[in-house]
Amino acid sequence: MSRATTEAPPQIAPEVLNRYEAVIGLEVHAQLETLTKAFCGCSTNFGDAPNSNTCPVCLGLPGALPVLNKKALELALRASLAINCTIQERSRFARKNYFYPDLPKGYQISMYELPLATQGWLDIEVEGAHKRIGITRLHMEDDAGKSLHEGFADSDRWSYIDFNRCGVPLIEIVSEPDLRTPAEAYAYLNTLKQILEYMEVSDCNMEQGSLRCDANVSVRLRGAPKFGTKAEVKNLNSFRYLSHALEYEIERQIGILESGGTIAQETRLWNVAAGRTDPMRSKEFAHDYRYFPDPDLLPVSASHLNVEGIRLSMPELPAAKLDRFQREHGITPYDAGVLTATRSLADYFEAAVRSGAPAKAAANWISVELLRRLNETGKNITDCPVRPEGLAELLKKIESKEITTASGKKVFATMFETGKSASQIVAAEGLAQISDSGAIEEIARAVVAKSPDNVAKYRSGNEGVFKFFVGQVMRETRGQANPQLVNEALKKVLAES
Ligand SMILES: [Zn+2]
Repeated sequence: MSRATTEAPPQIAPEVLNRYEAVIGLEVHAQLETLTKAFCGCSTNFGDAPNSNTCPVCLGLPGALPVLNKKALELALRASLAINCTIQERSRFARKNYFYPDLPKGYQISMYELPLATQGWLDIEVEGAHKRIGITRLHMEDDAGKSLHEGFADSDRWSYIDFNRCGVPLIEIVSEPDLRTPAEAYAYLNTLKQILEYMEVSDCNMEQGSLRCDANVSVRLRGAPKFGTKAEVKNLNSFRYLSHALEYEIERQIGILESGGTIAQETRLWNVAAGRTDPMRSKEFAHDYRYFPDPDLLPVSASHLNVEGIRLSMPELPAAKLDRFQREHGITPYDAGVLTATRSLADYFEAAVRSGAPAKAAANWISVELLRRLNETGKNITDCPVRPEGLAELLKKIESKEITTASGKKVFATMFETGKSASQIVAAEGLAQISDSGAIEEIARAVVAKSPDNVAKYRSGNEGVFKFFVGQVMRETRGQANPQLVNEALKKVLAES
């Protein structure tokens, strides 16, 4: 490797950058949400004691025979259908041979020349513009173990290996080189993640490595007919890393071409600490892996699978839900987008509506009050202390004017903190709306009498002062007075005085 390739890219003028275009394709690995591994009965549970979930099959001991996990295959088929792929009539597992200490079999089991599904697509949106991104293929494979180079007292001398991840089922989804900017790559990964979560194919937990992303990146002069030489950038396991690494890599390659150099076809690693991509190894080619069909596993034959049954039992896709929310619940596209961002949030909203919450109010309260409090407390919607039925109860009280919106916000805060119901809190704190027009008029009269200056201003045509009086009455009633009655009472009192 030359030293130049590890240095930060030179500052390149925007007009130079603009002459180039990036060509990006993503390879996304997602761990399937099965209880057991791809070819044996070992648990896939994350965080168990190291090497406790292993057996002769996933350790690759001589004579052990793998059997394909039916659930893993079903989830892979569901994912294929969700991203509009065609299921191949025949697919087959191959052995991808390489040596690495965390790969005890000496090979990875992966579909190679006959993948499970091909020719799909995903629609993405970047700043309001829609674009269709092609998907080359989806195939199944098993995962390797984990090498632990840090965190032990003797980590300076030894590396440790945890084989629990060996044989965990994965799908790999390879996109066409249709992405042109880091923002498009971000939108693609985000859309794909949302679909896989909605389909319950993968929990897509990036911190636990359930969703991992590599990128193939090249640059070319705008309008050039051919693609440039690509580098594969690995370890893009968060959305932030993906954006930063792509931006870096695009500038690095443009810098090399501008200074008359050539791009090496190689695998590079995103170096998080240094904020740059570093060369890892020269790009390996398929023949380096000596792929051959795995003699221990039968080919997968689509005509023996109930693909139609899987299609019919698929949960609603995010895009369909987004449309339906607007149509069925009459909420804005923006609110529908917020509510369908994750399936658990969408489910929460629909449960609240089923419990009688007015849809528009529910959309509004969830996207403003609820999400703000979840953010502040670092909680997830699934462990939100206010259940959908509880929110519905509160919103019904506001709708029926039993309490004011202002009181509703206080009640909601207490519900979130204590887990008590809206009725309990309204009763305990005496927050029921004051709808006694006589009582409100009395308070209005007292407020007006205290501010002769403002009364004079109001008389001389300063209508804005009216709001001041409303505020005063609300303060006196701790926000509990029926706003319409307050308006009426003030108008009457001000007309008289
Ligand atoms: Zn096992």
